[in-house]
Amino acid sequence: MIDAILARAAEGERISADEATALYADAPLELLGAAADALVRRRVGDSITYNVNAHLNPTNICVVGCGFCAFAVWTEQDERAYAYSVDQLVERATQLAGLGITELHIVGGMTREYDLPFYEELFSELKSALPEVSLTALTAVEVDFVAKVSRVSHREAFERLIAAGHDTMPGGGAEVFSPRVRKIIADRKAPAEVWLDVHREAHSQGLRTNATLLFGHFETPAEQVEHMQRLRDLQDETGGFQAFIPLPFLPGNTDFPYLPGPTREEKLRTIAAARLFLDNFEHIKGHWVMLGEEITSEALSFGLDDLSGTLTEERIAHATTVETPLGLSISRMEQLIRAGGRESVERDTLYRRVARDEVAA
Ligand code: SF4
Repeated sequence: MIDAILARAAEGERISADEATALYADAPLELLGAAADALVRRRVGDSITYNVNAHLNPTNICVVGCGFCAFAVWTEQDERAYAYSVDQLVERATQLAGLGITELHIVGGMTREYDLPFYEELFSELKSALPEVSLTALTAVEVDFVAKVSRVSHREAFERLIAAGHDTMPGGGAEVFSPRVRKIIADRKAPAEVWLDVHREAHSQGLRTNATLLFGHFETPAEQVEHMQRLRDLQDETGGFQAFIPLPFLPGNTDFPYLPGPTREEKLRTIAAARLFLDNFEHIKGHWVMLGEEITSEALSFGLDDLSGTLTEERIAHATTVETPLGLSISRMEQLIRAGGRESVERDTLYRRVARDEVAA
């Protein structure tokens, strides 16, 4: 039975949630990887895409307080607290743009001062200073928060953010949709229905978005697949997702330091099962900071076709105890992809090829 499911999935046929759970639990790792790899090669050949981007995290003060988060602090009294102004952020972004980035990834803590007018001002100032740089900004839970504190609907929040320069939305905040797991790791975070509704609204206004899964803590394989089922259903409805990003849980400096985090095999199984199940997602993206460089290279044969960017100054995962560097040079990124036996292709936020000599550096 497992062989038959793998053969169908490798051909690009849709498989059910029960079949995906069975693959995760029972398929031999090498065969699971080979099926996912065959599917990737059929879809995109040998190419692995990546982009050259940088993170901008306006503040780490956050009223949500997720147990798995090592980045945020509760109040401005915390000695680790920081809160940047629009001017400071634009100045930093301008320095980062000098490194040749094509995208700014803007996410951070949620606190009342960082409301809709703040982000409208930030986006429009960034666009006037750096018109060629795309803004991948605000997770669905941040959009929901910003809309609530500014007393507007999700629709109005997006209309105003897009008018100010919002280009695409990242996939964070999804964690695991299961209410059982959410209660343990993120009990004050907006629930799955809100996350999905915000993405639905974004897609209806033409904003492309990503989706994540935080795995390797309290969730079961069936809960992972249920999570992906809800994403696949929304993608059938809207077609607005660009990539699915499986994020391995990193226990260091969180409320759950006693958990081991996912093993190499669990990481590879999750990536491969996602590639086979999410037949309507164009890309499965690897977050190299969280996966580690070695597993990232290996996972290029287990279903990844895209890597998170060079990520200059990544702070969120680095607030845990990861040992990956703060960012990768383009040549290190290309080396990582070559080590996985693939050919690297630089892309922009909307997956168009980038000719590096045309990018201001
Ligand atoms: S994960 Fe996001 S919402 Fe949760 S505490 Fe950290 S910054 Fe706040």
